[in-house]
Order: sequence, then C-alpha cells, then structure tokens
Amino acid sequence: MLAGIEAGGSKTVCVVGRDAHHIFDRTVVPTTIPAETLPKLVAYFKECERRFEPIEAIGVAAFGPLEVHPSSPEYGRVGSTPKLAWQGFHWVQALRQAFSLPIYVDTDVNGAALAEWRWGAAQHLDTFLYLTVGTGIGGGGIINGNLIHGRLHPEMGHIRIPHDRERDPFPGCCPYHGNCLEGLASGEAIRRRWGKEAQNLAPDHPAWELEAEYLALAMSNFIFTLSPQRILLGGGVMKQAGLIEAIRRKTLEYCAGYLPYLAGEIEHLIAPPRLGDWAGSCGALALAATGSSNAALSPPEFREMQ
Ligand code: ZN
Repeated sequence: MLAGIEAGGSKTVCVVGRDAHHIFDRTVVPTTIPAETLPKLVAYFKECERRFEPIEAIGVAAFGPLEVHPSSPEYGRVGSTPKLAWQGFHWVQALRQAFSLPIYVDTDVNGAALAEWRWGAAQHLDTFLYLTVGTGIGGGGIINGNLIHGRLHPEMGHIRIPHDRERDPFPGCCPYHGNCLEGLASGEAIRRRWGKEAQNLAPDHPAWELEAEYLALAMSNFIFTLSPQRILLGGGVMKQAGLIEAIRRKTLEYCAGYLPYLAGEIEHLIAPPRLGDWAGSCGALALAATGSSNAALSPPEFREMQ
C-alpha cells in the first residue's frame, strides 16, 4: 500500500491505495499551518495502516516553490511562498519523524503529469505537459521520459504573453508580475476582471473568448519551445464547456500553419486529462509508486499518437 499527500493552498488530500484504480481510502484536511496540518496527516496514515496494511512509500505532490532534486539536502523543502507559515517547511524531514519510509516529493503539477502518464491520458508518451488552470496556473510534465526539473522546477503560469491594454484594461493579478499568464488568465484573474466567479459566467460571456486567446498564446509558446506530443489542460476553469475547442482553434491561428502536423493533430495535442479531479491525489500516489522522481521513467514503448 502506498500513501499520497496532495498539498494544496487551502486543503490537503490524503489517499492510500495501490494505484489510481485501487484507492482504499481518502480524506481531506485543511491546509492551515504545519503544526496543525501535519499531525492530522500522520494520525490519518497511522489509522490507515491499522485498517489496511503497512505503507511502503509516501508521495507528496505539493504547492511550490519546492526543492525537488533528491540529491539535495534540502529535498522536499518549501521555498519562499506567499503561504508564510509553510515557508521553509521540510516535507521529508517532517514525515521521516513519524515514518521511516521512502518519501518522494515533487510539485503538484509534476505529480499530476506522472499520474496521467501511468494511468491516464499521457500513457506511452515521452514528451508532454500538464497544465492546471484554476485559482492559479501551474505546469509540469515529462520531457524525453523524465519529469521536468531543471534548476528548480518549471513555473509555466508566470510566462509573459501579449496583453492589449486597450482591449483588456485589467492590469493582471499576479502579485509578482501583474500581467503574466496567471495574472491574466487564472480563475482569480477572471473573478477580479469580471466581478464574478468563472463558473457563474454565461457561455457566451466575452470572458471566454479572451480566456481562450490567452491560453492559446501560452499553448503556442509551449508548442514552439518544447514540441510536446500532448498538452493536458486541467483545473476548474477548464470545466467551461467549449473552452478547450476555442483554445484549439486559436492555437492553430497563432501557429499560422508553420507546423505541418498541427492541424491534423490538434484534438490529440490539446486534450483534457483523464483522471480529472483525481489527478492531484493520484499524482501523489504516482510519485510514491515511481520512487525517485528524478530517475528516467523508461516508458513501456514509445508510440506515435493515433
Ligand atoms: Zn506571475
């Protein structure tokens, strides 16, 4: 049995199970301060060990910034986050005090990418991205069979995209950059620009055309930079009917015929995740299952997209 911790800004989801198809139990704990949240996680997993069987490894898919290189002594340490109580919190050290088990930590989006690779919409691919468009925007993924880390880990929500201030006077809501992608296209940006939550905006509201344009600009940048076989778009904002189709259309428009394969593959290239709302917690389980997330994943066999 594996344990997974999906640590989000407001809630932490804990799961135990063997894989995405065999989840034994799940619980949700509020993410408040480590001194409150951590003992609840530990008590829950100890209880699960009594009810089911011993835990073999723990995976943590957490909000960042985060040290994700297993060779670093700081592996699992939270960096400078607006969630001040968690700044400097050390996932591996904290959990090791309660469990002498292997503990694997990565970003929530890299975890979700790994889960989609193992059990979802990215099986048999070796280069793809997973983006979540929710309150914030984050991205992770796998390149040539390895989770993307680099110097720290990607922060794809903070790329710059063109912003026509005459058409869209909203200055953006990223506390660091103002009008970066997250500042213009996150659920929080939609809420502040239009004065309503995204899910309460009608399908024909002009918000959605603008949203599709911003996300398609990001898609074209990621496609030109990384040449992914697929980009999975998850998160609450992406539940809007028709949005993914509009993003595909705009992406083709922005790529302007430069990539000959694109028009024939756009529906496979920009696609929804298969694990849906479970991608995050399955991501934590996937990290526990895969072990050191920095190791090559050796995909079963690379196949071209259908
Ligand atoms: Zn930003």
